[in-house]
Amino acid sequence: MKDSASLLLDFSGCEAIELRTRQGDNYYRCGFGILPKASTKIEIISAAQREAMLADSKISDYEWLCGYIYSGQFDPSQYFFTRNGSYWTGDVSIPQKINLGDDRVREISLDGDYKTLAIIPFVIDEGNFGLMIMKKLERYYFTRQDIEFYEGVAQTFGVAASCRRSQYALRERLKELTCIYEISRIVEKPDTSTDEILQGIVRILPSAMQHSELASARIVLHGREYVAEGFKESEFRLASDIAIKDEKIGMVEVFYSAEGLDEGEGLFLSEERSLLDAVAKEIGSIVETRRADEQQALLQEQLRHADRLATVGQFAAGIAHELNDPLSRILGFAQLASKADNLSQQVDEDLDRIINASLNARNIVKKLLIFTRDVPQTIGDLDLNRVVAEEILFFESQCGRKGIELVKDLAPNLPLISADPVQIKQVLVNLAVNAIHAMPNGGRLRMCTRRARKRVALVVEDNGEGMSEEVRKKIFIPFFTTKDVGKGTGLGMSVVHGIVMSHGGKISVDSAPGEGTRVEVEFPQSHPKEAQ
Ligand code: ADP
Ligand code: MG
Repeated sequence: MKDSASLLLDFSGCEAIELRTRQGDNYYRCGFGILPKASTKIEIISAAQREAMLADSKISDYEWLCGYIYSGQFDPSQYFFTRNGSYWTGDVSIPQKINLGDDRVREISLDGDYKTLAIIPFVIDEGNFGLMIMKKLERYYFTRQDIEFYEGVAQTFGVAASCRRSQYALRERLKELTCIYEISRIVEKPDTSTDEILQGIVRILPSAMQHSELASARIVLHGREYVAEGFKESEFRLASDIAIKDEKIGMVEVFYSAEGLDEGEGLFLSEERSLLDAVAKEIGSIVETRRADEQQALLQEQLRHADRLATVGQFAAGIAHELNDPLSRILGFAQLASKADNLSQQVDEDLDRIINASLNARNIVKKLLIFTRDVPQTIGDLDLNRVVAEEILFFESQCGRKGIELVKDLAPNLPLISADPVQIKQVLVNLAVNAIHAMPNGGRLRMCTRRARKRVALVVEDNGEGMSEEVRKKIFIPFFTTKDVGKGTGLGMSVVHGIVMSHGGKISVDSAPGEGTRVEVEFPQSHPKEAQ
């Protein structure tokens, strides 16, 4: 543009040339000349700004005239318009009346340094026009023939601009397609994590921008930031929201570094905006599919876990039933034998051992039966707060001895649950015992109750040893224990699990090694309506 404008300056002998074009939504304006007033900076005006300018009653006659010629509505019978809609005058100091049709007339006075003025429109391509404006200090510089000649020149400008524009558009399009292609290559690579994908996108995205060397990109997703090396934030920013089903979860942004930009630049192309929207949409759908996959995997894992527990449970129930009978006999006969006369002290002691061992074994069998939910329950309305308040008394002294602070935090007006009181106590005791075991050097044991929607929750929390993820996954399996022989049977958590499940409740365990463990069990309210 600059080269052709200076050629035109030389050739025409004018002192100033101004070029105006419209490209998409923006209007560009640029002056070339030998007077200091004319600058070669390109000025960009958005369609909205231009509309506001034209609507302003204080608009200068010159600007108004340019707008009028742009619009192509001219009256060729007026001598200052050519057949092709160019305006020209040999003396701007003479006011002119422009006939706007319907008897409306606008009087314009363009008086200024340049006395000769020609405003010549040209077509670039469909819907896009330009103006070639020639200015000369001298009066009456052009003839009508000159203007007609320059109309041809202006049209050449238009064709050149149109070619350049298509080439440019093609180049930009190619950049965008390359960008989308590269992104899809990352996405489709198997085993790529979401992090890697986002990191890849911020690396690739700048290359699709008009001024790729000045651009840098950032993605914010769920509050996490992803940027490529050398990222720089600036006021020249293009952004698009990432959303899943209308819920905004983040955004993609592109910045142009301010230092490298010429004044007037920094506006993003509409294609770049659509590209960014497309990328944001793509990220949204990646996150959505991945989330669905993860949930699916989690669900399957839970199902497998439940399945495993059920199998173990059936197995355990079978053994428990089989053992119950011989155990009762051992116990019965041992008790009978111990009543016999003239037993030596040794035999008497041995029989006692047999009796105690069988009682112990029967206890285990009973626990196994609870785990498999194979015991009759006595269900009634139960105040969980009361159970906690009563049971906590048993732990007070034990905790005191071990340097464990016991904290009770009971929610007021807790709805009742329908449950077997003995079993609920057992849940509480088992959880508390585990927590105390986990804090051999003291700590804090917290028991709290709270409402959880239509349920009532009991939370037992310690800040003891905690457990690894592998251990956490196995704690409900009967006989799983990490404790030494004689210290743990590995039945506590399985019994808790059995009881909670048989009450239609839920259990969740959060734990981190060295930090502690939090077990939350939920039971359904007994009268959900009343409690609302
Ligand atoms: P036991 O207590 O007899 O070992 P449980 O079924 O009660 O059996 O617990 C199984 C295992 O779960 C324990 O051995 C321990 O490793 C782990 N565990 C349970 N509760 C806790 C806790 N509060 N802190 C740390 N580990 C725990
Ligand atoms: Mg235990």
